[in-house]
Amino acid sequence: VSGPWALALDIGGTKVAAAVIGPDYAIASRAVHPTPTSGSPDDILGAVVAAAHDAAAGFDDVLAACGAGCPGRIDGERVTPINIPAWRGGFPLQGRLEEALGLPTVVDNDCNLFALGEGASGAAAGRESFIGAVISTGIGGAFVIDGRLLRGATGSAGELGHICVVPGGRQCGCGARGCLEAETSGRAIETITGRPSEDADPATVMWAGQLMGRALATAATLLDIDFAVLGGSVALGFGQPFFTAAQAAARAGQPVGAPPLTLVPARLGPDAGLVGAAVLALKQAV
Ligand SMILES: [Zn+2]
Repeated sequence: VSGPWALALDIGGTKVAAAVIGPDYAIASRAVHPTPTSGSPDDILGAVVAAAHDAAAGFDDVLAACGAGCPGRIDGERVTPINIPAWRGGFPLQGRLEEALGLPTVVDNDCNLFALGEGASGAAAGRESFIGAVISTGIGGAFVIDGRLLRGATGSAGELGHICVVPGGRQCGCGARGCLEAETSGRAIETITGRPSEDADPATVMWAGQLMGRALATAATLLDIDFAVLGGSVALGFGQPFFTAAQAAARAGQPVGAPPLTLVPARLGPDAGLVGAAVLALKQAV
């Protein structure tokens, strides 16, 4: 395949995934390294760069740019991932990666990249406007409108997890009450039921689906969107009963006459963030 290739990085709290991705969004090479759980900010960067070099070996001549995804808010030049303690206070990831890799580099929130990836070659391929949502330990979201990722003042537009779905409900880590994340994230379900979300009973799965559908109906109504792709271990693990409940709640929550919101499971699995990172990198490189 001709055309520019990208080095894609997906930096998480437990592992760093790196991949070389071609213009057709196929993964040509990959490497995974554990994220150090202690050490300095530079130790974490070292693990990221090591994974990048492993994946990029033999592809140096074709790489045009690097894209990297990281959890949490992007504060100016700095990433602030809650689940990577050494970087929590802010780490200038973009500049440091560019310096270490010698490639033009773009950094974005991991949920934004999930949406871009599913939009490029996953369940939302060919869609101009859709919601991407990830339900795992926490809940994240992103909106693609008219083919463009919605960013907002701090790059965190689409934070679906902090829509209120239960007025006066459970205390959320963000300080508010009754947020979707406080009621139906993997962490919340474990707190409420005393069991990991994998062991949730059918009533819990249905309840989680209903709240998710309610939140999605709100978002779809605000932004005139008729398609949503849902990923993450909790949503995909709950499977069809969750999607059926969420779909019904979403339709019930939309105004009469609005285009009905269609919910589909993500298709790229853990590679969505990598593909999205490549999409973003190649968009900036060309
Ligand atoms: Zn919240």
